[in-house]
Amino acid sequence: MRLDVVTIFPEYLEPLNVSLVGKARARGQLDVRIHDLREWTHDKHHTVDDTPYGGGPGMVMKPDPWGEALDTVLASGEGEPVLVVPTPSGVPFTQQLAVELSAKPWLVFTPARYEGIDRRVIEEYGDRLDVREVSIGDYVLAGGEAPVLVMVEAIARLLPGVLGNAASHQDDSFAPGAMADLLEGPVYTKPPEWRGRTIPDVLLSGHHGKIARWRRDEAFRRTDANRPDLIERADPAAFDKKDRDI
Ligand code: SAM
Repeated sequence: MRLDVVTIFPEYLEPLNVSLVGKARARGQLDVRIHDLREWTHDKHHTVDDTPYGGGPGMVMKPDPWGEALDTVLASGEGEPVLVVPTPSGVPFTQQLAVELSAKPWLVFTPARYEGIDRRVIEEYGDRLDVREVSIGDYVLAGGEAPVLVMVEAIARLLPGVLGNAASHQDDSFAPGAMADLLEGPVYTKPPEWRGRTIPDVLLSGHHGKIARWRRDEAFRRTDANRPDLIERADPAAFDKKDRDI
């Protein structure tokens, strides 16, 4: 998979060199290219922003550098990428969207600063590409670089061969499957006793059926406590009688 990021803070994307994403890059599973938007400015101060039409506070990112940058990036690859535009006014970034984007061969991210990018840029590329305006949550950050780090990590761990054990993400909260509507329950490792606290006996029983049932019950309890909205909006058929007794 190829990932391009156009930003005025290339150094903000340095975490993409470490851990899971960094290893995937080193193994050639991910081709990540970071571009400095200011390379496509032509004035002495490398200006990327200007005052908003209609007045108001803040500055807006100028269309010219974005257009030149995106034309250059698009011309450097085969086929058409999906353009991912981080913005608090976008559709929510969910596990489902991460799964969908992980199947694309090429993604281009446009993290903005200030009050965002001149709308005409989104319209211009929306006429020729699959453009997704995506929000990572109902809060406003100073820039789109942190959202890009979030999205890239969520997408990269779904790529075949990136996680050591492919099954790891199949049991995650929000993962498609039997527990799709439930958050993951608590997890434990050795030692069996820590500061007087033990682990649930069932996990030592070796009884796969009972362990699966316990995991499901705990997942249900945690979802009910932390995210009751997930249970309310799920298909009632997704839950069995034992779930409903909890
Ligand atoms: N005025 C904009 C609004 O209210 O929608 C906020 C602009 S924000 C200060 C600057 C940039 O940070 C955005 O254009 C976007 O790239 C990024 N950003 C901030 N919060 C975000 C979020 N929740 N999800 C995705 N991107 C976000």
